Amino acid sequence: MKNKYLQDHSRTKKILKVIGFTALPLGGILGVVGLIDFFEGFSPSGGNFSNPYHFPEPEGPDLFYLIFIGMALVFIGLACLSYAYMGKVARYTSSEMAPVVKDTANYLIDGTKNEVAGLVSKIKNNLLICPYCGDSNDLDSIYCDACGNKITKKCLCGQENNADSKYCKKCGREL
Ligand SMILES: [Zn+2]
Ligand SMILES: [Zn+2]
Repeated sequence: MKNKYLQDHSRTKKILKVIGFTALPLGGILGVVGLIDFFEGFSPSGGNFSNPYHFPEPEGPDLFYLIFIGMALVFIGLACLSYAYMGKVARYTSSEMAPVVKDTANYLIDGTKNEVAGLVSKIKNNLLICPYCGDSNDLDSIYCDACGNKITKKCLCGQENNADSKYCKKCGREL
């Protein structure tokens, strides 16, 4: 959905660029032609021979038409190009910014997640709660340092398990 939008978006930009690069020089040419017509229209030799009846040829609307078209095309071209390149800049900025924001968010989330997970595993694993007196012992303790009871269950496979374990953590055998 998002990719399709971006694709359509970039296609629009491409079209705008094509229009811009076509309209801009075309408008310039039309403007120049209009200006040439404008100056030729005022030259004494212009038009008189082509008009056998010496009817005053309306040069004005002709040249103004061209100049207006040229100006409009230049304006459209500039608008299209500025929009197309503004979009590119915006897209570049967002594509540069998005991963940074994403990474920062991920970093924060991961950091928090790891910290919490570490804290939980620390509580869960680094402390061995004696099932007889409730005292916390080191993970590698075999006997409780508060009451002296054996706080590990040795499985037949040789694995030491917590005293309250029901199954061996290594082989799954019932303890
Ligand atoms: Zn104990
Ligand atoms: Zn076992």
